[in-house]
Formats: sequence, C-alpha cells, structure tokens
Amino acid sequence: MVITGLTRNQLGSNPPRVRIPPSPPQSNRNFINVAVVLFLCYYQFGDCMKNTDYDELYSKVYKEIGDLTPLKVDCGVLCSGACCKGDSNTGMILFPFEKTELEIKITQNGERLAICNGTCDRNKRPLACRIFPFFPTVDERGKVYVELDYRAFCVCPMVEHYDEILFDKRFLNAVKKVGKILVKDKIFKEFLKTTTEEIDLYHSFYDK
Ligand code: SF4
Ligand code: SF4
Repeated sequence: MVITGLTRNQLGSNPPRVRIPPSPPQSNRNFINVAVVLFLCYYQFGDCMKNTDYDELYSKVYKEIGDLTPLKVDCGVLCSGACCKGDSNTGMILFPFEKTELEIKITQNGERLAICNGTCDRNKRPLACRIFPFFPTVDERGKVYVELDYRAFCVCPMVEHYDEILFDKRFLNAVKKVGKILVKDKIFKEFLKTTTEEIDLYHSFYDK
C-alpha cells in the first residue's frame, strides 16, 4: 500500500471493507446479563461523553480553529492545493464520532475516510482538513503537543520545509486547544495516542 500523507490514504491496493456491526441483544437475554453488560460499558466508558454531546464538541473544536490556517497567507499557492486533490478512493480520516455529509469509506484498518474528490463545503470540512498538516499529539500522561504530521510528508511541502516557514502561532495554539478539549474524553485520548504513535513511526522513517 502506498501512503502519500496524512489522510490521503491510497485505497487502490487497500479496498474499503464494510464492517459488520455486532448483533443486537436478544430479547430473551436475562436481566442479570444485561445489567452486567451495562456495568462493564459504564466501567469502560464512564468518563466518555454521552453520544449526544459529540455534535456540541465538534462545534466547539471547529470554532477554535475558525478561519485560522497554518500560514497567514494561503499556503495553497505553494503546492496548488495538493492536499485537496482527491479522487474517489482517497479521503481524510475522520476523528471519532465525527459526522460529515461527504461519502464515507472504511479502510481495512477500520478508519473512516471522508471522500471529497477535491471539493467540499469549506464550513463543513472535517477536522483533519482544518488542522492539516499538524496534529495534536499526546504523550503517555495525556499531555498535548502540536506537531507536524509526518504522514503528510509526501503531500504537503510545509512538512519537509518546516524550518524555513513561519507558521501562524494563533493556528498552532488553536490546534493545541483542540487537543486539550479532545483528550478529556477517553475514546479521543486513545485515538490521539494511536495516531501519535503512527506519526512517530513516519517521522522516524523520514528522519533516516
Ligand atoms: S498541501 Fe500543505 S501547503 Fe499545500 S495547501 Fe495543503 S496544507 Fe497548504
Ligand atoms: S474535504 Fe475539503 S478541505 Fe478536506 S481535502 Fe477535501 S476538498 Fe480539501
């Protein structure tokens, strides 16, 4: 599989596969079993937000980024908008519970890709597009940093030439704030951790 960057995953040799959801609980399941399952769910996800809160959460983090972009000028002139040159098999990885009006494809890794074909309603673009090519990485203790996303190395010229570029600090602070908001939720924390490990792997590869 050829991976060309943060979220421009190539699905050519990695066809999307639909995950089959688990069967619904059977109606004759006894009360004790249901209670045990509910207890385990609470135990595992007790510090997660209720599903209904995620829309609000995304409004909040989208607002944090607002109109900010990595540079104070349009970075698209550097590369003719390389990160938006998609096709029907490439997409942006959605964050957990993130909704989109774009078509979604599921990768073999279970990632949800929002397929955009290079066009979208900018106000509704996924979080990954809003923070590209940065990511709110976390360490073992859940401390949030803002780092270049080395998965974007082959797509975004800013990743390779970061030391020649003056990034907009307000944008970087906003990405950090987004990370701090997300990391409070157990599921997001896990997502940030896993993605941080992936970015580290790409970083070590490109550092060679
Ligand atoms: S690829 Fe990088 S430089 Fe080009 S438009 Fe996207 S974020 Fe800007
Ligand atoms: S969803 Fe929009 S911003 Fe994101 S890559 Fe596609 S065209 Fe670009």
